[in-house]
This record gives sequence, structure tokens and C-alpha cells, in this order.
Amino acid sequence: MIKENLVLAPYACHSVQSRGRIFKEKPSKTRTEFQRDHDRIVHSGSFRRLEYKTQVFINHEGDLFRTRLTHSLEVAQISRTAASRLQLNSDLAETISLAHDLGHTPFGHAGQAALNDCMKDFGGFEHNLQSLRIVDKLEEQYPTFDGLNLTWETREGILKHCKTLDAMRLGDLGKRFLEKTQPSLEAQLVNIADAIAYSTHDLDDGLRSSFLKHEGLLSHVPIYKKYFDEVMKEYPQITLRRAQKEVVRRIIGYLVDDLVTTSLEKINSVTLKSVEDVRALHTPLVSFSDEGLKEMKTLKAYLMDALYRHYQVLRVMNKSSRVIELLFDEFTHSPNLLPPNFYIRSQHEGVQRTVADYIAGMTDRFALREYERIFNPVYEERN
Ligand code: MG
Repeated sequence: MIKENLVLAPYACHSVQSRGRIFKEKPSKTRTEFQRDHDRIVHSGSFRRLEYKTQVFINHEGDLFRTRLTHSLEVAQISRTAASRLQLNSDLAETISLAHDLGHTPFGHAGQAALNDCMKDFGGFEHNLQSLRIVDKLEEQYPTFDGLNLTWETREGILKHCKTLDAMRLGDLGKRFLEKTQPSLEAQLVNIADAIAYSTHDLDDGLRSSFLKHEGLLSHVPIYKKYFDEVMKEYPQITLRRAQKEVVRRIIGYLVDDLVTTSLEKINSVTLKSVEDVRALHTPLVSFSDEGLKEMKTLKAYLMDALYRHYQVLRVMNKSSRVIELLFDEFTHSPNLLPPNFYIRSQHEGVQRTVADYIAGMTDRFALREYERIFNPVYEERN
């Protein structure tokens, strides 16, 4: 086991100083507490299902587009690299990254919006809170407890945002949302690595799908133009697609560099003896420079207009929302159509929440198949 105190800064999360797990367990002889959390997530069913959940493009639209799983791996890669440059705990940063999207519904944000709407009178649905619910309660892997019994620090990192009522219910973990203080630097880092990952891979996927146009990017996204001109000057003979790949790579490099440099300056401007000093602060220390933030915002705004609101994306999302709504209505009116374990749970957990858990856990293709099973009278089960 690597001696964390040799490589980590005092302001990092050290696993020996962990606030621990809900259910006490003997320490592992070979892994740190955060490495153990990492392995629990990788072995969970919810993690495997990320493979067939939409990021932006529905899973069956093409094998090369990102899914929630590959998105999470890219977030982990960026987090790990930046964490070690900041002398933060890269095991913890990777662990939070792999878990951060576990609670996503099928069909991306359209699925989340539809399910939240269905649940508006029953406490709502929020994917981030659902990720925590999965690791705390819904995974059934261990003989003596529900959930994965992860460390406090991983759970802190999973919970990115939280409404006041939920924060009050979450006790110690929700406290920072009431006191408006900050989580660990690892948690702050993953939050931004998530945005770097999706903005740049959606740019790449958007170009691949041709929903995003090279000319549009050149005129609306200055950082794209800057790196495109730079790449073409260095490699005038390369194809457009290869140049675009290099542009995406350079944008990631620029954003990560900007993030690390700016964050280091901010960290060095205050005295931090431990992660508790970080948690007492009211402003984040991991952040972009003003310039980096501006580039990021411009890119995100363009993606919103040209990709996320592209009519072909909206058509698929609209259709997907209908699938979620119809399944929710049917299961809540007739909970006996649920698989037996969910039906039993609905009797003590509440029908709506159980149906939301059931639907949120579905992959895109499972949701479509379930829709067929429930509504198509001549549906025949394939394989
Ligand atoms: Mg994400």
C-alpha cells in the first residue's frame, strides 16, 4: 500500500483520517479505504448499467458515442491527473468520478426531467441524490447491510448539490448545504472535471454526428478556432477529422492546465493544515481562471444551442420522456405489474418512490423493452 502521507498534501483527504463508514468494518490489509470504495463501485450492478445509459446520444444510435460509463471513465481520468498535480488523493477523486453519475435515469437529462415531473408531488427526483441513494441503500451486495457502505468522503463527493429539505434530512452529510461551506478539494475537483469531460466529449461526439458544424464552431467558439488554426499551422496536411481530434485534445489540456494552475494559486494563498480547514471555507479553491471560465462558458453555451437543442436530439428526447411518463403512470396505478421484489418494496417504501427507483435503474434499452412488454399487446420477448 502506498504511504499516502508521502505523496499527499496536508489539505488532501488522507484515508487514515476518514470519517468512516456507516457500518463499521475491519480495515483491509491491502487497500486504503478509498481504494476499497473504488472497487465496490466497479463491482456494483449500477456501475455496469452505465454502459447502456445515454449521455447525449441514445445508446443504440452508434457504438462510438459516449455513454454514461465512458463519460464516467473520462471524468475519472481527468480527475486523477489533476488530483496528483494538486497533491490531492487521486484514489478518492477517481472513486467519486466513477460514482458521480450512478443515479442517472435512462435517456439522459430528458429522462431525469420527465421522472422529476412525475415525482413532483412525491418529493421529486434528482439524479445526484439518487446516486447517493444507490450507494447508501439500493445496491444489494452485502450480507449485513444495504448499499455499499462507502466512506463519508466518497459520499460527500457524490453529493454535489442538495435542496434545503434534503440537506436537513441528510444530517452530517447535508450540513454544508445549510452552512454554505465547501466539500473536500477532491470533491470540488471532480465537479469541474465532470464539466471538462462532458463539454469536450460532447464537442467530439457532436462533430462525429455532424450535428455540430465546423464552420459554426469556428465563428462561435474562440478556443476551438484558436487551436484549429494552431493545429493546421503545425500539420497543414492532416484531414479535418484528425485536426478536430487534436483540437479537442488541446482544449482538454488547456482547461486542465488552467484549472490546476489557478487552483494551486488559490490553495497557496490560504493556510490549510487539513481537509477540515478546506471544509470550513465558504468559497471553492478548485476553479478556473477568469479566462478559463469564459472559454468554458462560451463552449457550453454553444453546445446548448447547437447540440443539446438540435431538433433531432430533441425529437429523441421527447419520445424518451413519453416512455418514462407512461411507464411511471402504469406502474403507479398497477404496482402489481412491477417485478415481485419491487412490488414488495413498494408496500413499505411507497409506490411512487419505488417506481422512481425502478425506472431510474433502467438502461435505455431495458426501458424501451419494458415499454413494449407493458403496452404492446403482440410483443414477443426476443431471446
Ligand atoms: Mg457527469
